Amino acid sequence: MKWPPRRPLACSLVALAGITFISVPQEIEIGREENRQVRKRTAELHDAQVTAYITRIGRRLAKAAPGAKYPYSFQVADYREINAFSLPGGPVWLNRGVLHAAGNESQVAGVLAHEIAHIAQRHAADQLEKTLLAKWSLGMLGAMLGNVGGAGTAQAAGAMVADGVFLKFSRDDEREADRVGLEIMTKAGWDGRGMIELFETLRRQQKRDPNAVDVFFSTHPSPADRIQNLTAAAARLRRSAARQAVRDTKEFRAVKARVVLKLPAPHSMR
Ligand SMILES: [Zn+2]
Repeated sequence: MKWPPRRPLACSLVALAGITFISVPQEIEIGREENRQVRKRTAELHDAQVTAYITRIGRRLAKAAPGAKYPYSFQVADYREINAFSLPGGPVWLNRGVLHAAGNESQVAGVLAHEIAHIAQRHAADQLEKTLLAKWSLGMLGAMLGNVGGAGTAQAAGAMVADGVFLKFSRDDEREADRVGLEIMTKAGWDGRGMIELFETLRRQQKRDPNAVDVFFSTHPSPADRIQNLTAAAARLRRSAARQAVRDTKEFRAVKARVVLKLPAPHSMR
């Protein structure tokens, strides 16, 4: 199926600012389509123990997330580089390299919570709306996303993949994902310091093995800024947390030993 030809904007972007025209079900459908594309070009780690572990953490975090009840799903990519990303409406991908780099469970929870926050705050959908508005009139979008239904949303997803809409969020979106992610992981029972610790690991890794972290740094703000923003917030949240926050578990140590020692070596993204 082909996209409609380019057309001048029917009305100004300013007038449209704040309008949400991609519904939650459409967002979910777009994310599903996008996830199918990602699967085709990603080496997925098919290991029942690792996937079950990541899914268990992810689901517990998702329960503590604000916003719509998205069908969150968790996939592990078999890459050594430290990275993670999310797609609209639910799919979260974690690179195996995160498990190699993490020193305890709360650090893994921090990465997943950040990605869940991008979804819960619908950053990708907002960005998609802006991108689509810049290209097509609202009327045409309405026809595609509303009346045409499924076929239209799938087309929209196709265009997004082509445009690389998901490659980069704004600095504001990243800051918000850190802040909301920290709240999510604290509420779900993990120690928020895990998120900061993983940024510190990234910073050290950048000096030692830049190749392992350059994907992450090409799509995220520098850890130094983020550590500063998060430290005070983490301390505040920790004081108000009612129960003992989880830092590490024996499940984490078992999974870490498995990926490092037992499974075949991970692939490289380059
Ligand atoms: Zn992010």
